[in-house]
Amino acid sequence: MSQSYRVIFQTYEDSSPDTVIKEALIIDSKITLPTNCLDFTMGIKTQLSMVHQIQSNVLNEKLALLAENQERHCPDSNCTGKLVKCGKQKSPFHDVFTDHMVVMQRFKCNFCGHETPSTAKMIMGTIQSGELQKIQAELGATHTYREAEELFSLFSGAKRTINNHDRIKQVTESVGSSIVEISKHEKEIATINEASELILNVDGGHIKTTDPDARSMEALASVIYQPEAIQSNSKDTRNHLTSKNCAASILDDNQEQFISSTIIAALKQGLGPKTHVTALCDGAQNCWNVVEAIRPLSGSMTCILDWFHISMKMKNISLPEQLKTKFLRIKWHLWRGNADSALLRLSQLAKEASTDTLRDKINKFSTYIRNNRDRLVNYRDRKKQGLVFTSHLAESTVESLINRRCKGQQHMRWSRDGLNPLLQIRAALNSKGEWENKWRTAVLNAT
Ligand SMILES: [Zn+2]
Repeated sequence: MSQSYRVIFQTYEDSSPDTVIKEALIIDSKITLPTNCLDFTMGIKTQLSMVHQIQSNVLNEKLALLAENQERHCPDSNCTGKLVKCGKQKSPFHDVFTDHMVVMQRFKCNFCGHETPSTAKMIMGTIQSGELQKIQAELGATHTYREAEELFSLFSGAKRTINNHDRIKQVTESVGSSIVEISKHEKEIATINEASELILNVDGGHIKTTDPDARSMEALASVIYQPEAIQSNSKDTRNHLTSKNCAASILDDNQEQFISSTIIAALKQGLGPKTHVTALCDGAQNCWNVVEAIRPLSGSMTCILDWFHISMKMKNISLPEQLKTKFLRIKWHLWRGNADSALLRLSQLAKEASTDTLRDKINKFSTYIRNNRDRLVNYRDRKKQGLVFTSHLAESTVESLINRRCKGQQHMRWSRDGLNPLLQIRAALNSKGEWENKWRTAVLNAT
C-alpha cells in the first residue's frame, strides 16, 4: 500500500465558501518512509516551490482585482475618452524567497491614446516586497554586502540576481537614507516619562575613506540610557544595556545630523527639564559639542572625561622602568581628579624623558589633560559611590555601531554617502524598538 498527498490552491466567494471558483494543483507527492534527517521533511526546494506557486496564484488574483477596479474614464480631465484593455504586460516582482513575473492588464484611452501604468514597479513603486527590502537592509547593515548575498543564497537555495551585493548595497543605502528623513520629523513626537538620570556617551571612530586626499574620516557615535539599564555581566565582559538609544553619523555637515539624532535619542530615553545628564566623552571637541547641545534641554549636567580613554592613553605610553613609578603616581592624581598635580608631574616627567618621541608623547598627553581639565572628576570617589565614571562599564558604542561593520577587512573603504545610511540602520538596530517601529515607513519611503 502506498499513499500520496496533494496541496491544492482554491479561490472562493466569501459568501459561499464551499463553491470553488478556481482550483490549482500546487504539489502532488508520494508519502515515503523516512530514513534519516535528510528525507524526513519536504526539503527546501519543494517548500520554496510551494511558496512560489501559491504566491503566483495569489498575485494573479490580486492583479485581476486591480484590473477590475481600474477607473475606466481617461484620467486626462480634458479628454472624454474611455480606457479600454489593450494587451498585457509582464514585469518582475521579488519577495523574500521567490521571484515572480507578474502579468498586468494594460489600458489605453480610445480617444487620446493615454496609457495606464502596467508594470509592478510603476504601480507598487518598487520591484521588491517590503519585507525583502527590510531583510536586505538589515543584512546589509550587519554584514558585508557580499556576506549578505551569500546568506540570501543559502536560504533561497540558489543565487538570485535580486540579492546580489550591488542590489543589497543599493537597498541598504536607500532604506538608511529614508531613516534620516523620518528622523527629521521625530523631535516633536518623542515624549515619554521624564527620566531623573541619564547617561550620555559620545565617541568617535576612524574609518578608511575612498577619498584619495584623506587617509581616514571620523564617524561619531552616541548612546544614551538610564542608569537602571545597566545589566551586570560576569566580571570580564562589558555590561549589557537593556534599554538604550543610539545615534551615529559620518556626514560632513557641522555635526548637524548627529546632534539632532542624538537629541532625539535622548528625548526617547526621557530627557526633560528635570533630568540630570552625566556625559562621558573621550575628550575631543566635536564630542563635547554634542554634549553641549543636550545641556539646554536638561536640568543639570555633569561632564566627565571618560576614564576609559585616560587609561587607554596612558597605556599607550611605554616608559623605561625607572619612570614607571612616577607615571603610576600621576595616574593616581588623575584618579582623584587632581589635574594640577598631575600636570605638574607630567611636565617634570617630560624633562626626564630619554628620547624625543617619548617626550612628545608625554607632552601630548599633558595637553590632552589640560584641554579637558574642567571635565576631570574625582574618579575614585565616584567609583566608591557607585556612580558612572567610565564608558568601559557598558558595551562600546563605537565598537558596536561602527567598527564591527566597517573595520572587518583591510581593504574596506567607505564614502560618506555610502556609509551614513548604513550607520542609520545600525543605530536603529541598536536602539530599543527603533528598527521594529521604523522599517515599514523606511521601506515605503525608500527610493
Ligand atoms: Zn484620453
